[in-house]
Amino acid sequence: MNDHHERPPFHFQHHTRCRLGVAVLLAAAMLIAAASNGRAEDEAKPDTFRAAAAEVDITPDQPIGISNLRGLSTGIADRMFARVLVIDDGTAPIAIVTADVVGCPISYARALGKSIEEASGIPADRVMFNCSHSHNVPGVGLPADPEEPSFGRDVLEKITEMTATAVDRLKPARLAVGRERCQIGFNRLMPTPGRVTMTVNPDGPVVPWVDVLAAYGHDGSRIGILFSYAAHPVVIHSSSTLISADFPGRAATHLRRMLGQGERKGGVMMFAQGCGGNINAFPLKGGIDAADRVGLVLAQAVTRVQLRDVAPARIRSASHEVALPFQEPLSVEEAEKLLAQRPGDLRYQRLANLAKAGPSPDMPYPMSAFAIGDQVCILALPHETFCDYQLWADEQSPYGETLVFGYTGGVQGYVAAKQDLDYGLLRAGYGAQMTNSRMPLKPACEAIIHQGISDLWQKLEEK
Ligand SMILES: [Zn+2]
Repeated sequence: MNDHHERPPFHFQHHTRCRLGVAVLLAAAMLIAAASNGRAEDEAKPDTFRAAAAEVDITPDQPIGISNLRGLSTGIADRMFARVLVIDDGTAPIAIVTADVVGCPISYARALGKSIEEASGIPADRVMFNCSHSHNVPGVGLPADPEEPSFGRDVLEKITEMTATAVDRLKPARLAVGRERCQIGFNRLMPTPGRVTMTVNPDGPVVPWVDVLAAYGHDGSRIGILFSYAAHPVVIHSSSTLISADFPGRAATHLRRMLGQGERKGGVMMFAQGCGGNINAFPLKGGIDAADRVGLVLAQAVTRVQLRDVAPARIRSASHEVALPFQEPLSVEEAEKLLAQRPGDLRYQRLANLAKAGPSPDMPYPMSAFAIGDQVCILALPHETFCDYQLWADEQSPYGETLVFGYTGGVQGYVAAKQDLDYGLLRAGYGAQMTNSRMPLKPACEAIIHQGISDLWQKLEEK
């Protein structure tokens, strides 16, 4: 990321304007926009952005349950962090929060948004919460009893305080975006004649790039670098019982070291997980040293990004929720007949159990987006969404640059692409198959999500 070679701040000429002059111009522009019944985008464009970033250590001080390990952590290889980038266009700030946690329920992300709104004034619908999905850190949730202490509540309080502090430190800033090729993730679903198995599929879809959004002060100082990549952080996985942020944490550490020299030193390095539902970082279970090397490859790609300035513009936000239906269970009679033929087969046992349990309620799929003028869109999708959706959104997006996050606003299961669900009940691979608790999603979910994303962009246009 050639931030040593960037152009000087492009809004230099605006510094000499007096505040009153700007206010009069803005008011006049807004009147013109209102009269023309069009979006006030160009007319009411702010003079500059303001930005701030912050981070807080969220590592638990006790051994903690990590589902991936089927037990408690035995020590700490890397500290866990939550980080925030706040950007203000002069109307209301937006906050992108990232954290080294495996996931959270939708209710947790909503509670966090509300808590941030109360403490900092940032509207809850202008907050995104992205989970890195490292498999060597715990998830976060809230106990039913609001008085009961929990790791999730500690993290919520720390993030709230961190974000409020960042808002107090907002300063005039310029933004820049860019993308660079990088492939540390590989599609993990390999179709075989019998069924789809989990192994590296070199021909399967991946998102072979890293997206970067960077913020700098007018004095040239670095405020923060947000980088996003789509891949499961499973390079450590069960090879170690230590807490670790896996390759995303190591990439942030490498970036701090690599960019720590010169006048721009400092700034918060933060990772956002993309739609890595069907992507594994490689090598799976390779160990801590391997995660460090993968983090280095990602960090090096971030340093190669050619950044382009984002002109000051209004930042619009919109959110939208669709419901994803699950497939109908078989009848109990039909399922038991099948199980009688293959009593030892887990798939048939699941089919029989799910038949007895009956249909599941639809899966809520809340999505949100920020648009920075017409130049940049940050699209946030929930759950373990497959990369096919990120590729589709990137191609269809009406914006110049589109960053697509997965694992944002709640992580409550896999959302596979139609082509993966189409393999059917008995052949589909991990993430597209039935689980102990529910049937697979209907293949029609893909069209529902595509329409939902299009509707979200339409909402942004109407703002
Ligand atoms: Zn996962």
